[in-house]
Amino acid sequence: MDLGIKGRHALVCASSKGLGRACAVALAAEGVHVTLTARGAEALASTAAEIRKAYPGVEVKEVVGDITTLAGRTDALKACPNPDILVNNAGGPPPGDFRNWTRDDWIKALDANMLTPIELIKATVDGMIARKFGRIVNITSAAVKAPIDVLGLSNGARSGLTGFVAGIARKTVRDNVTINSLLPGPFNTDRIRNVSAGQAKAAGVTTEEIMQKRASENPAGRFGDPEEFGLACAFLCGAKAGFITGQNILLDGGAFPGTM
Ligand code: NAP
Repeated sequence: MDLGIKGRHALVCASSKGLGRACAVALAAEGVHVTLTARGAEALASTAAEIRKAYPGVEVKEVVGDITTLAGRTDALKACPNPDILVNNAGGPPPGDFRNWTRDDWIKALDANMLTPIELIKATVDGMIARKFGRIVNITSAAVKAPIDVLGLSNGARSGLTGFVAGIARKTVRDNVTINSLLPGPFNTDRIRNVSAGQAKAAGVTTEEIMQKRASENPAGRFGDPEEFGLACAFLCGAKAGFITGQNILLDGGAFPGTM
């Protein structure tokens, strides 16, 4: 399917690895010029090089920086000042017990998973409205729909973003600017491997054992493949996806047990 976005420009945040990377790859496969960001220069350079090699007609820019900081966002927007597509993403907050979280812990989580996407939407949405095309996709979490107790920082911050987006997504769509969120369940990325490694250490078993158990507990009997996530993101960014806005789309292999 040709998504009709060849030659568009995308800012894909936190995209050297995992789900952000998969979104960047899927957009580049559609001929979208991509600006990638991450804190670590090495993995970012390697992902950028892979995309350049696979899609030679696509312009790939790399911005090293922390997207949750003003400096990181300023540099990203300097490299991609008028994005047609914005994919909001950053690392998730650590797990823990809410009794131990300080105000600083909360501010950090809110900065990463609520205020950074809001700042980036604010910086780009009026240009999209003026050009009558814009696609904004926020990578949030299945925890927005089915909260995970130890991930309270994530549940809270991402729900704040979700509420904000629900309000404005109905305002921008008249000008062909959509704002949606993708809610990942368990996907096979470094993050899930790192979390599983911690659990394995505590339980005295191998990381593979923990990962296999988690995968088998999912109705699909496996983790999601990041490529599946990237393709869903690209679809939402397509020219013909202009009637989909304000949605929170679960990609979780059916793990959420509700009828709707
Ligand atoms: P991942 O595999 O660990 O990749 C994270 C990517 O984001 C890396 O490229 C990382 O590069 C970059 N990054 C992290 N923090 C950043 C920051 N502050 N500024 C710029 N770049 C940053 O993680 P993932 O699995 O793709 O997860 C992406 C998001 O989805 C996270 O918020 C995660 O909590 C959420 N999520 C994931 C799953 C899952 O199963 N994978 C499930 C639910 C929710 P650097 O470290 O070099 O910056």
